[in-house]
Amino acid sequence: MQILVLGAGQLARMMALDGLPLNLELRAFDVGPGKVVHPLSGDSYEQSLSQAIDWADVITSEFEHIPYDVLETCEKSGKMYPDARAIKAGGDRCQEKQLLDEANVANAPHVIITDRASFEQALSKLATPMVLKSARAGYDGKGQWRLKSMEDAQALWQELAAFLEANPHQAIVGEKMIPFDREVSLVGARTHDGSIKVYPLAVNHHYQGVLNLSIVDGKQSEALEAQAQQIFEAIANTLNYVGVLAIELFVVGEKLLVNEIAPRVHNSGHWSQQGAFVSQFDNHLRAVANLPLGDTQLRTPTAMINILGQDEVAPDIYSMPGTRVHWYGKSKRPGRKMGHINVTAQDAAQLIEQLNVTAKWLPREQYPGLHEYLENS
Ligand code: ATP
Ligand code: MG
Ligand code: MG
Repeated sequence: MQILVLGAGQLARMMALDGLPLNLELRAFDVGPGKVVHPLSGDSYEQSLSQAIDWADVITSEFEHIPYDVLETCEKSGKMYPDARAIKAGGDRCQEKQLLDEANVANAPHVIITDRASFEQALSKLATPMVLKSARAGYDGKGQWRLKSMEDAQALWQELAAFLEANPHQAIVGEKMIPFDREVSLVGARTHDGSIKVYPLAVNHHYQGVLNLSIVDGKQSEALEAQAQQIFEAIANTLNYVGVLAIELFVVGEKLLVNEIAPRVHNSGHWSQQGAFVSQFDNHLRAVANLPLGDTQLRTPTAMINILGQDEVAPDIYSMPGTRVHWYGKSKRPGRKMGHINVTAQDAAQLIEQLNVTAKWLPREQYPGLHEYLENS
């Protein structure tokens, strides 16, 4: 079977790697230059988008910020999973909020801000502290503002007004700042016939808006796992979703609030390459290719450490027990996601020990989230 992936980054690459044993052939559409490329070598096929659509049995996506005209062209072929609605909901926070309300799942109280009057409304409904996010094109905490106290509201409005004027097709979503205990994510898959399998919850540690570390050690309560699965089912069924879907959540006491969704495989699911029998990439391809889903259970407690802005790690990391290094083949840029390290152990306590050993080879300046986590645990 032949699969076209919209987007040609590391997620398409890791899909292609896991597609080989399933006899699935992948090509990637690099949206920027509008080129069809090999997802591993990056070599270009002399193929237009419409030729690639004809070539493909199935079209899927590795990111949500896809121009609407490309989405529509793909949707028309009847081969795209997940469909355009799901991808738009992941790429536009206004549509995302609408979806969460339709699916009836708890999320942060919010107001959509398009002008001065709606900004005032946000102030009176949400008060402070408040998080403000551009509706489109945000990732890694980019396109966000924080309002800590009412005193700063007028100065912030000047900034927001300038942003709205420069971006006439944008809106801003104001959200109540949630005093969460921790952040988790649920990655799961839904098939054409509506069957669902989810992975265990990952606990995520961000540093300056960027994911640094995900831990999956099976220590989240059964009640929380069950609640997360219900939320997943509600959202995936509302969308009639096919493929892997990731949901970022805030944990407040024993209650979950949805932060955002990603209609694709997700950074916080990379642990599944070593920590589960069947990875998120493998299960995504199975879902869209109409194959049965594989085992999503935790095989072994796993931590995933993002490698940001570095193109090498100490050689000792490669020989660490239970450890795998994954590179994305990208050129080095400050802060860029270059690869990740999966560290596995027999149990949760041993995982911490193992991470402490690993952290000796990963300097604090480059791995602040990891060190912060270890200091607090
Ligand atoms: P991603 O790279 O995950 O797509 P993003 O740019 O889409 O990130 P969000 O996930 O919405 O941004 O926000 C980034 C981080 O900011 C969250 O992981 C969380 O730590 C914090 N945050 C976002 N919204 C809220 C909120 N309503 N209350 C408290 N913290 C928040
Ligand atoms: Mg996001
Ligand atoms: Mg996020």
